[in-house]
Amino acid sequence: MVDLHTHSRFSDGTLTPEALAAACAELRLSAAVLTDHDTADGYARFEAAAASHGIRTLTGMEISADVPGHTVHLLAYGFDPANGPLREALDKVRKGRETRQAEILSKLAMNGCRITPEDVRREGGDTGVPGRPHIAAALVRKGFARDRQDAFRRFLARGALAYAERFRLSLEAYIRLVRGAGGVVVLAHPFQTLFTNEELRGFVKDLTGYGLTGIEVYYPGHDAPRRDFLHQLSRENHLIETGGSDFHGDNKPGLSVGTGYNGTLHVPDACFENLAVACAAARNATEGT
Ligand code: AMP
Ligand code: ZN
Ligand code: FE
Ligand code: FE
Repeated sequence: MVDLHTHSRFSDGTLTPEALAAACAELRLSAAVLTDHDTADGYARFEAAAASHGIRTLTGMEISADVPGHTVHLLAYGFDPANGPLREALDKVRKGRETRQAEILSKLAMNGCRITPEDVRREGGDTGVPGRPHIAAALVRKGFARDRQDAFRRFLARGALAYAERFRLSLEAYIRLVRGAGGVVVLAHPFQTLFTNEELRGFVKDLTGYGLTGIEVYYPGHDAPRRDFLHQLSRENHLIETGGSDFHGDNKPGLSVGTGYNGTLHVPDACFENLAVACAAARNATEGT
């Protein structure tokens, strides 16, 4: 069993990379990848800890692409984190998060909820990747929301009182950057896009044209019909299949790394093997140019 989609304190997860690697070891995962939002800064620590437990890994990261009206998350794997153009683009994305945070806090203040940047930092938003989950935690702590769901529903979700957009890279730009850095791109949790199945079929075909390598077939909540549909899309487009829990520690209560909700997730070892092969091929292709 493997887990190719996890978050640490380097973005909006609550575990350190070391604690995450220990949790993976506890479940006897053979491979695991840290895929924090917009950063691979946790990689070196995760890699060292994973190696000490005999767990294989690759570089990883998750970003949300700019597709108006839809939630499109892409996972990048096997890229060189020191690649210049990729680093520059990620810096710009992270600056966009800071700008958005200031905007959200000012909208919250207008609605009588005074939260300071320090309050957000205290919730783990000190990672360079301040996210809405950190602001949600601050709203709960200050008594402005009952729980995180409530904070999102009333203030932070799209269309809610304090919602603000942030800078996002286009799909094409992001895929080009990751491939230029020797990595591959996978479409994360495809059903969260809110496309219908037929729209999804067209969307995956377009992404494949831009250089997509895989689809996240195994994911918490994907029942057999959903998995079968994604198997189909993978076959049609000659894409590899990946999977992961999207573990966030206490920011997603009840969700275990590796096994998902109530032990319902099982990502086959072959997913890591095929991903590692695709990453090696991508790296060779960049080195050859
Ligand atoms: P950000 O990247 O900072 O915009 O935050 C996005 C993250 O917020 C997602 O990865 C989810 O973990 C979380 N999130 C988004 N919408 C909701 C929601 N309605 N309820 C709870 N968490 C949410
Ligand atoms: Zn997250
Ligand atoms: Fe995601
Ligand atoms: Fe995620």
